[in-house]
Amino acid sequence: MNASPKPKVAFYWCASCGGCEETVVDLAEDILGVVAAVDIVLWPVAMDFKYKSIEAMPDKSITATLLNGAIRSTEQEEMARLMRRKSQFLIAYGSCAISGGIPGLANQFPREQILKYNYEDAPTLGNGGPKTRPQLKFAEAGREVSLPDLHNVVRSLDQVVDVDYYVPGCPPTPNLTKAAVTALLEGKLPPKGSVLAPDIALCDECSRKKSKPINVSFTEFKRPHQLLADPEVCFLAQGVVCMGPATRSGCGSQCTTGNMPCTGCFGPTSRVRDQGLKIMSSICANVAPKEEGDIDKVLAGIPDPIGTFYRYGLAKSMLRRKINLPAENA
Ligand code: SF4
Ligand code: SF4
Repeated sequence: MNASPKPKVAFYWCASCGGCEETVVDLAEDILGVVAAVDIVLWPVAMDFKYKSIEAMPDKSITATLLNGAIRSTEQEEMARLMRRKSQFLIAYGSCAISGGIPGLANQFPREQILKYNYEDAPTLGNGGPKTRPQLKFAEAGREVSLPDLHNVVRSLDQVVDVDYYVPGCPPTPNLTKAAVTALLEGKLPPKGSVLAPDIALCDECSRKKSKPINVSFTEFKRPHQLLADPEVCFLAQGVVCMGPATRSGCGSQCTTGNMPCTGCFGPTSRVRDQGLKIMSSICANVAPKEEGDIDKVLAGIPDPIGTFYRYGLAKSMLRRKINLPAENA
């Protein structure tokens, strides 16, 4: 008698740093259980599969694809659409797939500005050298090669295709990954669209929460390298921006335990529409000075507001992108 076929699982990597792929390896010996329980049909970072093999598979024949990374290029969009078609469950894995992540910060600049700086104006290119940009097509000796094109904006996975579940984090922790894979294999998944992490704010699991100020009045802001932070006291009480109040828990408050403020990589809870706006509005409402010039001096302590409040979520936020006029096609 034939054993029933194992579920087919795929991993794919779009615009991201590769840390999410590391997390799969961080499952350590647990990865052996995963490998034994499933057939991995695509994992370009670790195994040599061909896209053509995936294209040839019947639609929905892959049980689940865990896709990390934002959608920045034509190739990534094609792969997102292909994996959506072939998979029963498409899981946005990590901050970049969920909300654009660090690559999403590029939405502060139009595509042309990025290409011009990188291939023509960057000081590291040297003076007087050729200002060469990559060509999308190149032919020689009867062979043609092509490169993916860059989209004008970075998008989250669900801004391109329908997504079933979200596993947050930059990167997701091994525990969350293991819980997600176990729920998948045991058929114990929550309703479609769920984020597979606790729906409470990080402050709830932070060891500093007793010192979190109820009435705070900011007279200055400091960045983490500008002070020796007290490891017992809430960062907000020390004038350091901490995204904990607007961020979903589930990471074990790794950063605050390591004496660094939370930068928000788990994204918002279900009650927060826009993570950056939530923390920005509460911080700005509590700046002590009332005169414009004095307010500016306090806010000068946050020199990179987009990178501070939207480090992982600009692409999915209400701001989404900076518009440079004349507007380019989105
Ligand atoms: S340090 Fe950050 S996460 Fe911890 S209680 Fe304060 S604001 Fe919340
Ligand atoms: S403390 Fe914040 S930034 Fe650090 S891992 Fe947890 S959610 Fe991410």
